[in-house]
Amino acid sequence: MTMTLSGSCRCSAIRFQVESHTPYPYQLCYCSICRKTAGGGGFAINLGAVANTLAVEGREALSIYRAEIADDQGHCATSEGQRHFCRHCAAALWLFDPRWPDLVHPFASAIDSELPIPPTRVHMMLGSRAGWAEPVIGPHDQCFDEYPEQSIEEWHRTRDLWIPRRIGNSRTFGRLLDYRSVDRRNSNRKHTG
Ligand SMILES: [Zn+2]
Repeated sequence: MTMTLSGSCRCSAIRFQVESHTPYPYQLCYCSICRKTAGGGGFAINLGAVANTLAVEGREALSIYRAEIADDQGHCATSEGQRHFCRHCAAALWLFDPRWPDLVHPFASAIDSELPIPPTRVHMMLGSRAGWAEPVIGPHDQCFDEYPEQSIEEWHRTRDLWIPRRIGNSRTFGRLLDYRSVDRRNSNRKHTG
């Protein structure tokens, strides 16, 4: 059952839950969209989660922002990325991109449940960072002017941090069973969330 992430906006008009295999908040994005919309420290952190598990309370308070992005030639295009935020308190909540419909990317800043501490971090889109946003780079961190080499899933899998299953409720985070043994045990019953 992965890890359940519980999140909300600041005014609590919107609450959401979503299941994640990739909950480590390791990827700091310094692009101007993240910085302006969700990055008071100069960057925002996106997590990866399973789109069809997203459950939302207070959906009527949601708004979507699609950024205009200019290329090197000055041509402007509207980003496919749908940045969901609360129209009452302006809290950034998650990004959904219909080109990758299986995924949703909650902002770590919107999550209320405990997140695991990443062993290292990736600093991305450093080519777009604000001059004052000096990245604090750990000894094993990776830095990229644009996109990193690994997807969020690859980063977790190559570090053995990809979470296949979870047992119990969200407070038992960290107590993982072997994927196959859980699979067998649960093969005859459906998860109810
Ligand atoms: Zn709100």
